[in-house]
Amino acid sequence: MSPIKIVIIAGLLYFGYRLLISDWKKKRGKGEENPSKEMPQDGQVEDVLVEDPICHKLVPKQQAIRLKQRGAEGYNYFCSEECCNLFVSQTGEKE
Ligand SMILES: [Zn+2]
Repeated sequence: MSPIKIVIIAGLLYFGYRLLISDWKKKRGKGEENPSKEMPQDGQVEDVLVEDPICHKLVPKQQAIRLKQRGAEGYNYFCSEECCNLFVSQTGEKE
């Protein structure tokens, strides 16, 4: 094998290697973009605490059970369905 052929083959290998690396970096770059965009949507956007009127626990608004207030435009928030049901049975039967 002549030295020139070795140089050409080495050059081709290097070129192919560079192509592979740049392609791989592009794919990795795209892969890293998505999780960082999805992260804020996963719950950190509206991280407001609301108080459960039954047990007075503070619950993240997104996880709380929401119940429309009677005769008002607001909502009551509960930590669990049990508290929600308790609230309905307490306030609903008074009418
Ligand atoms: Zn509760």
